[in-house]
Amino acid sequence: MSFARKVVLSLAANRVIRSFASKYGMKLGAGRFIAGVTLEEAIKRTSELNDQNLWVTLDHLGESVTSKEEALEATRMAIDTYAAIYAAGLTKTNVSVKLTQLGLDIDSSFCLENMREIVTKAKETNNFLRIDMEDTPRIDITMEIFQTLLNEFGSANIGLVIQSYLYRSEKDVENLGKQGVNLRMVKGAYKEPKEVAYPSKKDVDDQYIALVKQHLLNGAYTAIATHDENMIHPLITWLKGNNIPDHLYEFQMLYGIRSDLAKKLVADGFKVRVYTPFGKEWYPYFTRRLAERPANALFIIKNLFKK
Ligand SMILES: Cc1cc2nc3c(=O)[nH]c(=O)nc-3n(C[C@H](O)[C@H](O)[C@H](O)COP(=O)(O)OP(=O)(O)OC[C@H]3O[C@@H](n4cnc5c(N)ncnc54)[C@H](O)[C@@H]3O)c2cc1C
Repeated sequence: MSFARKVVLSLAANRVIRSFASKYGMKLGAGRFIAGVTLEEAIKRTSELNDQNLWVTLDHLGESVTSKEEALEATRMAIDTYAAIYAAGLTKTNVSVKLTQLGLDIDSSFCLENMREIVTKAKETNNFLRIDMEDTPRIDITMEIFQTLLNEFGSANIGLVIQSYLYRSEKDVENLGKQGVNLRMVKGAYKEPKEVAYPSKKDVDDQYIALVKQHLLNGAYTAIATHDENMIHPLITWLKGNNIPDHLYEFQMLYGIRSDLAKKLVADGFKVRVYTPFGKEWYPYFTRRLAERPANALFIIKNLFKK
């Protein structure tokens, strides 16, 4: 881990800074990465993004929930989010969830029950649910829950995420490709040991390109989720060279990161979806984004001195 990253993460864990940030953070710059605290704010912002021809996946922030009450509240929020998207007539917006927010660490069958309710609502409102992928101790159980939902609901309303830093991903893509599953490809955001994940960035990048091609050549829908132009440009050349139809893929980026590139891709005629987080539990997500790129912290410091 880089020195700058360690500094940002340890400052983020400081209690005084944490409580100051929770009070004033949105004003100081967290709003650059988070679309609002309430569902209403998120829907308003989503509608503005959709107007710019940017598609959206809404993520109600919160993770590693430890009580059933919190997990039920998160389930309710996901259902309310579909209802709000439907009521606002936002046809370019879906939802992403993390299973640890829906009770995975408490009891996996309780989590599955919650997921059934959410997928039922997604289906009812003609929408789609993406299950984010978390760290390796949770992957097998996430795959199991996903497979159960796939058997019960089919592949039209649910999709999963694959991380290219994992050795296992080629096999997972092969298995899910056969079932026509809609996959989001990412490099992977967690700190994983070398027993399960490639330690070198080059291997992660090479497998990223390979997995996107593998899934598309299987004829399955692929969300290319990266801000890395070294992935995006060669893949565009490959997509065009291999006549991959537009309706089989989209690009995805995080809210507030490389918005310039997202808009450029839209102007070039590509479908781009913005992963748009909202909610009062924004602090851990926000500090992860700062730690990924400590230059982002400068933006916050500058805001401190603005009138
Ligand atoms: C839509 C979406 C959904 C995701 N879902 C998951 C998930 O379910 N599970 C999971 O493990 N991971 C997820 N991730 C995170 C992903 O795994 C990576 O950690 C993250 O995308 C950074 O990798 P990168 O592909 O952008 O490439 P990198 O090699 O990390 O970065 C490439 C370039 O992107 C730009 N960049 C990257 N991060 C930042 C930043 N914070 N601020 C400013 N510029 C930046 C820089 O220009 C950098 O040089 C998701 C990412 C996206 C975009």
